Amino acid sequence: MAARTAADGLTLDAEAIALDRAHVFHSWSAQAHVAPFVVAGGSGSTVWDHAGHRYLDFSSQLVNTNIGHQHPRVVDAIREQASVLATVAPATANLTRGRAAEAILAHVPDALTKVFFTNAGADAVENAIRLARLHTGRDKVVSHYRSYHGNTGAAVVATGDWRRVPNEYARGHVHAFGPYLYRTEFWATTPQEECARALHHLERVVQSEGADSVAAILLETVPGTAGVLVPPDGYLAGVREIADRYGIVLVLDEVMAGFGRTGSWFAFDQHDVVPDLVTFAKGVNSGYVPAGGVLISSRIAATFDERVFPGGLTYSGHPLAMAAIVATIGAMEDEGVVENAAAIGRDVLGPGLAELASRQPLVGEVRGTGVFWAVELVTDRDTRTPAPASVVGALKAACLARGLLPFVAENRVHVVPPCVVTPDEARRGLAVLDEALTEVTATR
Ligand code: PMP
Repeated sequence: MAARTAADGLTLDAEAIALDRAHVFHSWSAQAHVAPFVVAGGSGSTVWDHAGHRYLDFSSQLVNTNIGHQHPRVVDAIREQASVLATVAPATANLTRGRAAEAILAHVPDALTKVFFTNAGADAVENAIRLARLHTGRDKVVSHYRSYHGNTGAAVVATGDWRRVPNEYARGHVHAFGPYLYRTEFWATTPQEECARALHHLERVVQSEGADSVAAILLETVPGTAGVLVPPDGYLAGVREIADRYGIVLVLDEVMAGFGRTGSWFAFDQHDVVPDLVTFAKGVNSGYVPAGGVLISSRIAATFDERVFPGGLTYSGHPLAMAAIVATIGAMEDEGVVENAAAIGRDVLGPGLAELASRQPLVGEVRGTGVFWAVELVTDRDTRTPAPASVVGALKAACLARGLLPFVAENRVHVVPPCVVTPDEARRGLAVLDEALTEVTATR
């Protein structure tokens, strides 16, 4: 076969865009305004198009590929599993599935003893809500306004951001204002005050709803899509106390924050709290094959020893996804991937972003941990006026033009490279972001 030329690559990129625009209906978009970005291949923290333009992936493809692109151990494991058994029903004992569950549970507190596998994050949240309702015999679910829990029935109603829609599943969903000091609606001026404010508010919401009607408090340990809102010290431990006081199940959603993203295996490891249920997806196998699930405490699992759990999915514990989980977790352990994420956050991204914030007038606040950071853009640092979509769009374009693929949401750029990003790559990405901010500031 003749070697492919750059011209061939451009033709393939044009074809990818033309086919996408002709046939693909996109998530979260007005279809006429979709501007597709071609990703044809990747390796580690880099992706490229067919023509060979390379981009440092500071998005991790929706905060997902924690282990980086095309990790050979994971790709090989999927290939090998496919050659032996490419599908199997959930009600079977499958060695790869058992090993995947064992590998996950090795990284959580002893109180969590079982894994219910799902296809993604949203159905993990659906099933966590169901487990909590059946376990408690109660109905209501309290979550944060600033949250994202998925885009299916109950998960999208639990979600607090703009995607939240009233629908037939809305039964019993209640929202509270979690901690967000930079834009608190209330009187708090320090992290400690904001923590006390949010805990007081949450408890009042629970009491006002009737504590004996509340099945679950469902929170992202670190709200991600809503802006990497790392909770103040003591918040989650305080939520745990409220849940215990009223017999409520504490569900922590670690779909985005889990599996190394925050610099620990789970974000709750950093917050002195043991949840009753944990939802996960994304980083569990870096999205190489869709998978998610719920970690279940022995106490809640025991509810269903004699009683039927009426949930299930044909592809629950799909062997290709399970093989990818075993290989991903094995590689993360052997290669110190979580430790790398922590070091990158501590030594490069944290100090680098703080320095950038001190100089760049468009930056209102930076916050985060590990490889999980948000840069909040404002047009006025005193009034904290959120930067409009035009500024965020210009910044994204300036990053892309310099070979950096950022993740943008509302008035923020999220700095979320793979957990395997090297110090040099992280510094290079920050330098591009700095240049892009300077360019956008100068042209406003
Ligand atoms: N929970 C959280 C915290 C998430 O960030 C997401 C996805 N961004 C979901 C749930 C839903 O996951 P999925 O898109 O895999 O359904």
